[in-house]
Amino acid sequence: MKLFSPSKLTRTYISALSLIALLTLATFFAMHQVISTQSDSALLVNISGSQRWLSQKAALLSVELVYSSNTSDRKQIREQLSETIAQLQSNHQTLIEDSTHIIPSHCLSPQMQEMYFSPPVNMHTRLNRYLSEALALAQDPEHLLTPNNSHLIYLLQESGNILESLDQIVSLHQKESEAKVHQLRLVEITSGLVILITLAFLGLYIFRPLANTLLMERFQLENANQELSFLSSVDGLTGIANRRHFDQFLNQLWLLATHNREPIALILCDIDFFKAYNDTYGHLQGDECLKEVAASLKGSLKRQGDFIARYGGEEFVVVLPNTTVEGAVIVAETLRVSVENLEIPHRLSSVTPKVTISLGIAVGHANLANSPTPLIEAADKALYQAKQNGRNCFRLAEA
Ligand code: GH3
Ligand code: MG
Ligand code: MG
Repeated sequence: MKLFSPSKLTRTYISALSLIALLTLATFFAMHQVISTQSDSALLVNISGSQRWLSQKAALLSVELVYSSNTSDRKQIREQLSETIAQLQSNHQTLIEDSTHIIPSHCLSPQMQEMYFSPPVNMHTRLNRYLSEALALAQDPEHLLTPNNSHLIYLLQESGNILESLDQIVSLHQKESEAKVHQLRLVEITSGLVILITLAFLGLYIFRPLANTLLMERFQLENANQELSFLSSVDGLTGIANRRHFDQFLNQLWLLATHNREPIALILCDIDFFKAYNDTYGHLQGDECLKEVAASLKGSLKRQGDFIARYGGEEFVVVLPNTTVEGAVIVAETLRVSVENLEIPHRLSSVTPKVTISLGIAVGHANLANSPTPLIEAADKALYQAKQNGRNCFRLAEA
């Protein structure tokens, strides 16, 4: 399993996440641009469309002005014509100005510039002339308002051309905005694809190894925990269970036995004259003796579920679940004989010149009202009696 170093992993995912953040910003920017370009272009097309209509309205009003015979009607038409001219003028300004508050993204393209400003005939001069002619007509004195009026003739001749040019401008605006939107859509699609690729990279090269690393670390941690709990339950010298483990075991067994009502036998074993053994052979040899006795006691327990622990010093405790007095007596004798048969010399023993043990047996029944402590105390008393009765023997606690 390939493991990543934490710092490399952090660097890699920070870079990948930064890339995604950048791409998301780019996509957001592109989308924002698409939306504003579309709305700006709709506005441009609208204004250009309105220019078409206003230019025709100006021509119509000019004709009406000339052919109207009523003075008050003429006055009204003059006002309408002036308003139309002002509107045309203001729209025109909006369309040709490079940057305005009305259309923020609006900027005349080179093609559009050419249409509006390139000599000799261009939309800008053409429209300005159209407007000044219309204004002149609107301001002409009454006696000049005849069908032969030169301003009127100009306006009627030019209105078709103006219409045609405005049509071209509208369609150019549309084409340009479509091209711009297409470009932005490409940016959008590209950043979307790059985001997907980056996410796949993150999955393959960051999250998969990260998950592997976590799994591996969890596995190592579980192993370490198991080893730790094993070490904390084992006696360092003899390798059998320690006192702590015995307490846990007995309490659990006791709880279980309150339900199944089976008897529990407990045997305390104590090496005879062990102080004298140490004094004679030295402490290190004493340790060796403890190991041999522990191994022998453990090896004598054949039934699954039987438990042995070092109770402290040169004392051992054996727990026999679901065992009657008769069974416990047999096991105790087997334990005693097994140690005797080790034939470990002990010249200061006043029983026999080899290492022996004395044993105290107690058998009890667990119930919810009692605890295992009286059972241990009873086994301890029986052990004391075995010591009193000459050692290298077992005694059974009174029921
Ligand atoms: P008894 O027959 O009445 O049991 O006498 P005893 O000498 O065995 O009992 P006592 O309690 O007087 O002495 C126990 C000795 O066991 C004292 C102590 O030095 C020794 N001992 C306890 N733990 C260890 C150990 O881990 N290693 C060694 N070498 N000796 C130990
Ligand atoms: Mg002792
Ligand atoms: Mg002893």
